[in-house]
Amino acid sequence: MNPYDFVRLPDRVARERVITHESMLGRAGRVRGGRIRCGLTAITPIFIPANQAGAGVQHFMTVRYNGAELPVIPGSSLKGVIRCVAEAVSLSCIGLSGELIERGQMRAGYHGAMNKDFVTCDVPARLCPACRLFGMVGRDSHFLGKVSISDARTQPGRFARGDQMILKPLMGPKPAHSAFYVPGGKVAGRKFYFHHSLPPKTVMQGSSYTKTIVPLVGGVDSEGNPRTMFEFDVVFSNLTEEEYSLLLFSLILTEEMRHKIGGGKPLGLGTVRIEVAEILETDANQRYRGLSARKTGPAPCASLVGDALRTHLQVSTARITESPSPSLEDLQYIWLYPPADGEDYVYPDQEWFNQNSQVALRDTP
Ligand SMILES: [Zn+2]
Repeated sequence: MNPYDFVRLPDRVARERVITHESMLGRAGRVRGGRIRCGLTAITPIFIPANQAGAGVQHFMTVRYNGAELPVIPGSSLKGVIRCVAEAVSLSCIGLSGELIERGQMRAGYHGAMNKDFVTCDVPARLCPACRLFGMVGRDSHFLGKVSISDARTQPGRFARGDQMILKPLMGPKPAHSAFYVPGGKVAGRKFYFHHSLPPKTVMQGSSYTKTIVPLVGGVDSEGNPRTMFEFDVVFSNLTEEEYSLLLFSLILTEEMRHKIGGGKPLGLGTVRIEVAEILETDANQRYRGLSARKTGPAPCASLVGDALRTHLQVSTARITESPSPSLEDLQYIWLYPPADGEDYVYPDQEWFNQNSQVALRDTP
């Protein structure tokens, strides 16, 4: 089976002016701000390259901390994957889907195949849900977003490096196969990779087409403890209930879904579980309700953990999960976990493409 599939685009983008603290006074309803403490556990091997340089063995990105060189997942990588989810399950523009958009412009091949409304947001006065959360860079202006994500850190003893592996070469760059990307003349949607039940696809012998990496291993050790775990923080401010719900869902997904991060996704790397350990919510309404509150110092914080947290997550994401949109149904299908047992994900070869140029993606062998 092909290693990726598409999440279909909704029928429109819902843009509105972003709510920032200046405009909150007098606004009815609640805005939310605070900090979400998250854990990330590797299920399969994961790999974030230390640098883009080509030759030689590639190592996992590290940071020096308390005298030790420790693996790190940069906040920008995490933000990328969380944002992709938020884009896919809301009425958002195509911000990160490089296949479709190039520097805020639709790629040449997609003109006429996609509603122009999906081109990346450009002005802060009209932003889609994903751009309101994570920001955008327009031609003349930019918006930083209302969510920031820290680097994911680990500690000595809480991660394990794997053996060197030589990744199976991917097919060289080629024009997007139109029966997959633009079936029936309409853009198929946003691309996501399936989770694999089989080990990563590697080869025994390196060549000029292969990449040799040292990943971190996933799964559990002989005592049942995760081999590789990270922690990171998500700080958010001035979110409407709808934006808050979208952020939480993009972090936790559903029980039957997992995120995929880093390199080697088509080859079976990158499956991780993200869990929310605690939410520390500041009473933003209190803070902005005049001078008397401001004098008393920082706004009070409420901590949510355990059962109260679980209930809160369930209730807060219900508007997305209770009646899944067609786009969410697609993402649930692609990111289903555990994946189908023994399913082998490979790109069809050139000969297959030559002979089956009109066959749709879901009809590949
Ligand atoms: Zn947008």
